[in-house]
Amino acid sequence: MDELLLHNATLIDGTGADPRPGTSVLVEKGLIRQIGSSESITPPRDGRVIDLNGLTLMPGLTDAHVHFGALGANAFAGSPGDDDSLAAYVIGVVENIELALQEGFTTVRDAGGLDPAFARAVEQGLIRGPRILPSGSHLSQTGGHGDRRDRYDERPIVSVPGILAAPVLVDGVDQVRLAARQQLRLGSTQVKVMASGGVMSPIDALESIQFTVEEMHAAVHEAEMAGKYVVAHCHTSPSINNALAAGVRSIEHGSILDEATANAILNQGAFMIPTLLVIETLAKWAEAGDIPHYGQMKLAQVRTQMPLSVELAASAGVLLGSGTDILGPGQTGRGEELALKARVIGPMKAIVSATTTNARLFRLEDSIGKVSEGMDADLIAISGDPISDISLLGNGKNIPLVIKGGQVVKESLQT
Ligand SMILES: [Zn+2]
Repeated sequence: MDELLLHNATLIDGTGADPRPGTSVLVEKGLIRQIGSSESITPPRDGRVIDLNGLTLMPGLTDAHVHFGALGANAFAGSPGDDDSLAAYVIGVVENIELALQEGFTTVRDAGGLDPAFARAVEQGLIRGPRILPSGSHLSQTGGHGDRRDRYDERPIVSVPGILAAPVLVDGVDQVRLAARQQLRLGSTQVKVMASGGVMSPIDALESIQFTVEEMHAAVHEAEMAGKYVVAHCHTSPSINNALAAGVRSIEHGSILDEATANAILNQGAFMIPTLLVIETLAKWAEAGDIPHYGQMKLAQVRTQMPLSVELAASAGVLLGSGTDILGPGQTGRGEELALKARVIGPMKAIVSATTTNARLFRLEDSIGKVSEGMDADLIAISGDPISDISLLGNGKNIPLVIKGGQVVKESLQT
């Protein structure tokens, strides 16, 4: 069956335009063929019609900062739990991938820790999941955010190519260059570097600035020579400025941002990807006593600041992508990121950040991120109106229809 008519929905097209009630969308051969008023589109002769009266139709959601491979008890990217076999690890990763699609996410960028082999498995149809843009292993300096060893632990951090992409510790321009080339060889669509301290790493202070401009520039050069770009983990303004000086295009977290740095991101045409959901998730874990003391202290620093930084970046006009950074096994509630961001910038802008802005960040704006003729048919239907209640997107039960590349991959509509 090549044709599918999505009949009589309220359309939110992902561009920020007002919702359009009474709209139908015709899908043909995986693409959006025609959009119009419900009366104006003729139902396909031998295709299927799905009645969406009372539902909202939107582009598939996207998440620019996932860690499908972060299953470890210490929530580190690219780590199995202490007692897990590699088989159990793979099963846990596949579960995370499948859950994201079931919750309406049709394209995601893994921000490190997922071996690109999983992205290929989705592409090959071996598992059902969103289109994945993998970063492979994070690049971190010794003692940096990717160095998850305790102070007196000198054991090497080991990856298993094709399964497990643990952080790579590299120091100096040559090591960074080699590691970037290696990640690109393994199939990464962008290179991830750790440019500041982080919440869940044992040794570093949040304010520490990691990698020199020259080191990061080596990664940027290699990525750009391959037609790709660099993503940098940065909590503070000095680390953001370092990353921008090296040519980094995607600034992750941006938790403690000042005005001059917001303008610097804007002037360089870089993107900022705040990650509000992980902060709230970690805060819940902290209440339950599930994160170490160092993590709790650093968490408190970013929790109050990040919403203010989002506000500052938005009013400066910075391109704001959408990312969750959620960790652990059984990752659900991914869409709550939009509700948290909506408190700062409103629901429509939160939706745009997770659709058209992320599509630009991914350099996929010609195929995904909006409902427009000729685009890939990545579409979701929501029971209700996400503009009046954005929290609907935080629960997959409110998303009874998911279509990826024209294929219905989830359908639980009440008939
Ligand atoms: Zn992350």
